[in-house]
Amino acid sequence: MKAPAKSSGSSSRVASTAPSRAAAPGESRGGDLFALLAEHTHEQVSFYYDEACGYRGIIAIHDTRLGPALGGTRFWNYHDDRAALVDALRLSRGMTYKAAVAGLNLGGGKSVILGDNRITRREAIFRAHGRHVESLGGRYITAEDVGTSTADMEFIRAETEHVTGLLGKSGDPSPVTAYGVYRGIKACARVRYGSDDLSGKVVAVQGCGHVGYSLIKLLHEDGARLIVTDIDAQRVKSVVEDFGATAVATDAIYAQQANIFAPCALGAIINDDTLPQLKVDIVAGAANNQLAEDRHGQELESQGILYAPDYVINGGGLINVNAELHGWTLERARNKAGEIYDSILRVFDIAREERIPSYLAADRLAEERITMVAKVRQNFV
Ligand code: NAD
Repeated sequence: MKAPAKSSGSSSRVASTAPSRAAAPGESRGGDLFALLAEHTHEQVSFYYDEACGYRGIIAIHDTRLGPALGGTRFWNYHDDRAALVDALRLSRGMTYKAAVAGLNLGGGKSVILGDNRITRREAIFRAHGRHVESLGGRYITAEDVGTSTADMEFIRAETEHVTGLLGKSGDPSPVTAYGVYRGIKACARVRYGSDDLSGKVVAVQGCGHVGYSLIKLLHEDGARLIVTDIDAQRVKSVVEDFGATAVATDAIYAQQANIFAPCALGAIINDDTLPQLKVDIVAGAANNQLAEDRHGQELESQGILYAPDYVINGGGLINVNAELHGWTLERARNKAGEIYDSILRVFDIAREERIPSYLAADRLAEERITMVAKVRQNFV
C-alpha cells in the first residue's frame, strides 16, 4: 500500500491549526491569505511542497455537493504564490458551474503546479502531484490543462486512480465539444428566429482549430454559409477547400454582416474594442471566458445580441472527460452534449423570467441544480 502523501496545509473548514496564542477576532494571521479564502468560499484548499523534487502545488476544491471535484492541473510560472492561489480558486469555481449546467454528477476543483512547464524531467514533479491528489481520497479528480500532457497524467496515475484524460482513453474532446456548440447555436436560432433551421444563415467563425473545424463541418452540413478566420493560413485553407467557406482577415471577423458570431479561438474577445463592431444577432461559440468583463455581457444584451454563455455551450469537453471516467461510449457522450440545446433554452427562459442577462442566468441554472440536489441528499432514507 502506498503511504499517503502529506499536505502541508488545508483551508478545510474542519481543519484546525494550533496558533501559539489565540488570534484576536478579526485579526489576520499570514497576511491576507485567509481573507482570500473567506472571499472565495471554497470547501477546501490544499498546499503541498515536496522538497526532494521541488514540487509546489495547490489543489482547490470549490464544491462537491454534486460529486467529486473535477478539474485539470495547470502547470504555470506564476508571478507569485498569491497569483497561483487566486488562479486555482477562480478556475475551480468555474468548474463547479460548468459541471452543474452540463448535468454531470461532478463538483468543481482545479490544481496548479508552480514552475516552468517546459522542464523535461517531469516524472518526480507529477508523481508528487499524484500523491497530493491521492491525499484527498477521491474528493478531487484531475486531468490535463495548460502546461500538462497525457504523458504527465500517466505519471500521476502511478500514484493515484483519481486522474482522467489518460493515453489511449477518451482522446481528443473537440468533436464532442463542437457538437455541443452546434446544438447550442441551433437553440439560439430557435430563440432568436423561431426556428432552429440554420440553412441560409451566415455564421462568422473565429478560429478553425480542433473545435472550429468540426463545428464548421456541422454548420456546413446544415446549409449555413460560413465566414472564417484564423492566424494559421493552412487551417483557413482547409475549411475554404473542404466547406466552401469565405476567408477574411483576423481583424475583420468582428465587423462581418452575419447572423451568428462563433468565437472558437481566444478568450476576452467580447470587449470594448469589438462590441461596437458586431453586426450579428447571436454570439455563440466554443472559446472559454469570452467576456473580457461581466459588464460586456450586459452590453451585448443592450445591443440586442443574444449571448450563449460560454461555459454552458462549450460543456462538451467536460462531458467527454466524464465519459472516460464512467466508461461511456462516444455516442452516449455525444447525446449528452446534445442536451446543451435544452440547457441554452433554459438559460434564456431564466433570463427572461428574472430580467437578467444570460451570463447571470447561466449561474442561476447551475445554482438551482446544486441546491436542489443538495436538499434531496440532506434527508436520511
Ligand atoms: P485550437 O488551438 O485547436 O484552435 C484554436 C485556433 O484559433 C487555432 O487554429 C489558432 O491558430 C486560432 N487562433 C489563435 N489566435 C487567433 C486569432 N487572434 N484570430 C483567429 N484565430 C486565432 O483550440 P481548440 O481546442 O479548437 O479550442 C478553441 C477554443 O475553445 C479555446 O478557447 C478552448 O479553450 C475552447 N474549448 C475547447 C474545448 C475542446 O474540447 N477542445 C472545450 C471547451 C472549450
